[in-house]
Amino acid sequence: MKNLIELDKRHFIHPTSSIQQQQEKGAKLIVEKGEGIYLTDINGSVFIDAMSSLWNVNIGHGRNELAEAAADQMKKLAYSSAFSTFSHEPAIKLAAKIASLAPEDLNAVFFTSGGSESNDSAVKLVRHYWKIQGHPQRRKIVALKRGYHGVAAASTSVTGIPEFWDMAGHLMNDFLHADTPYWEGTEKAIASLRSVIEEEGAENIAAFFAEPVQGAGGVLIPPSNYFKEVRNLCNEYGILFVADEVITGFGRTGKFFGIENWGVTPDLITFAKGVTSGYIPMGGVIVSDSIHNVLKDKSKGTLFHGFTYSGHPTAAAVALRNIDIIEKEGLVANAKAMGAYLLEGFKKIKEQLKIVGDVRAIGLLGAVELVQDPANNKRFSAKLQVASKVVEALHERGVICRAVTYENTDIICFSPPLIMDQLQIDSMVE
Ligand code: PLP
Repeated sequence: MKNLIELDKRHFIHPTSSIQQQQEKGAKLIVEKGEGIYLTDINGSVFIDAMSSLWNVNIGHGRNELAEAAADQMKKLAYSSAFSTFSHEPAIKLAAKIASLAPEDLNAVFFTSGGSESNDSAVKLVRHYWKIQGHPQRRKIVALKRGYHGVAAASTSVTGIPEFWDMAGHLMNDFLHADTPYWEGTEKAIASLRSVIEEEGAENIAAFFAEPVQGAGGVLIPPSNYFKEVRNLCNEYGILFVADEVITGFGRTGKFFGIENWGVTPDLITFAKGVTSGYIPMGGVIVSDSIHNVLKDKSKGTLFHGFTYSGHPTAAAVALRNIDIIEKEGLVANAKAMGAYLLEGFKKIKEQLKIVGDVRAIGLLGAVELVQDPANNKRFSAKLQVASKVVEALHERGVICRAVTYENTDIICFSPPLIMDQLQIDSMVE
């Protein structure tokens, strides 16, 4: 253990981490094994993975079927290009499968290796879409404050969490952020979006990006009419609507795609995480037939955008098996039913503890807010880092969840595997 911690400090720069803290304290959890909803560390301690690791291990850990799908595909054809006119069966079948699951006329898929690449690809695709139709000035992207869309060049800028701009500045220009519907309510949030659009000039805006439920922002579930208003506004101004389903896709919210909760259809969907339940990296962008048709008609010559691993055959084979499990085991319906049960558990916690404010869940995506006084929603002093301390204490008691703390809030997020049953939820809530 000691040796591993020293090697970790010396050689492993962790993603989204405090390098100083890593040097001072060393890795807190070195995970060795995963089975179902549980993780076991190198000391043999067992934890409930109440975050599905990074909101992604939807079918739970340790599923041999996915290891077998990867091994079978690797033995046959581990990798082959999909550039230009090359293709292969796993990517073709996966694109068709995703098209069959996506809402309405979203029927064509571009593959990537993860969420950040998906959102960068979507930014480039929507700008290209406008350019080839004679509107090159439609370049600006509007998104939501506290939205999280990744850390590549464009996705860092789509992200509305300012901490992510600290490292190297805002990486690209022409990205704007409107108010968050969870905090402001539909009317104010739509007025904010409208005023951003009008200030910048609708004719300069390519697309609006939003998560159907803002995940990393603290599981911020919008009011039920928000996205209908967004769709109307986008139609009014001719702006494309991109739903970032990197967390909410593949059953997380009790619907196959999170946007289905709100009764509207986006023009593009970006996805990653749950498509393979994290067993292997993969992501992508789904575009509507009308966008695909414009690309078919007007995108002349080579589209200079593609990743070596776009449509990776082994990743595609794993994704197909993962989706098969989600369907055969009824995990979307289970997420819905267990999410409702989890929310009942949160409500009991709220009754018992006088520091709990709003509790919420949509499918197996939930949060508990901590406040000094639930009567007036007064938060604790930010210096106290209350949510982080509670998350530490839960870790010691064997539950891994995530704190989100910023100026007006202390939130504890939960995003457990979609295979959770009632007994497991009871023990997590307890
Ligand atoms: N979009 C959303 C909504 C996310 O939650 C994430 C990651 O958490 C991303 C994009 C970025 O995905 P990745 O970390 O795979 O690049």
